Amino acid sequence: MASEKGSTLVWPFGACEQHGPHLPLITDTFFAENILIKTLDSLPEEMPIWMMPTQAIGFSPEHQSFPGTLSLSADVLIAMVTDLGKQIASMGFKRLIFFNAHGGQIGLLQAVSRQLRIQCPSLAVLPCFLWSGVPGLDELLPEKEVEEGLHAALAETSLMLHMSKDLVRNESYLDKNISIEKTIPIPKGWSLEGSSPCAWLTEDLSSSGVIGDSSSSNPELGDALENALINHWKSLFISLLESDWPPVKSENPVFPS
Ligand SMILES: [Zn+2]
Repeated sequence: MASEKGSTLVWPFGACEQHGPHLPLITDTFFAENILIKTLDSLPEEMPIWMMPTQAIGFSPEHQSFPGTLSLSADVLIAMVTDLGKQIASMGFKRLIFFNAHGGQIGLLQAVSRQLRIQCPSLAVLPCFLWSGVPGLDELLPEKEVEEGLHAALAETSLMLHMSKDLVRNESYLDKNISIEKTIPIPKGWSLEGSSPCAWLTEDLSSSGVIGDSSSSNPELGDALENALINHWKSLFISLLESDWPPVKSENPVFPS
């Protein structure tokens, strides 16, 4: 299978971290794994793409002061990904996609992907974030959720209510008091994420662990979000599988590992 033209592995990448009083520690892991399974199921059978075992613990230092969070250090995570990436490349796979559902490790996976690309020139590495670049999300979610709904808020809560209602505790997401509570405002011109980010810790923003507002969450929205996510990733996977990416490179790494 590794020797097939365009052979592609997808590594679902989650986290084990607090998600407020109402969502489970495995929220990101659950989304990475289950959206990926449904996306792969929607592809034509013969496509050379396979799923790796799910990474259930990631890089979550911003949530570490909340009980239940387990986080690997950046060094350990980079070493683990590099080790396995090299093995995957030496087996002959042509592409590795990180299917990541935790916003706090986007930058880390992008950095390790660039390093792997140098160390294993024959392996394309594509560090994706589940919620990034998905058409239609802006229409489904209020502007405030898009800007401030970073964690356990409307989108994640609605998606979980749709995909696995039993994992949502009681109805506590309806409590307005668990919404974002900035103790002091972010300096003018700076942002939580995006153009001028603050590298916040959760306790800078919220005592409940929720960053955003989960109070109007509902399974109908979750259903629409799930469709948007699956359609988007299905089309991106097909476009990659039909392409010749990556260009053939010399096998001599620029920087020896
Ligand atoms: Zn999450």
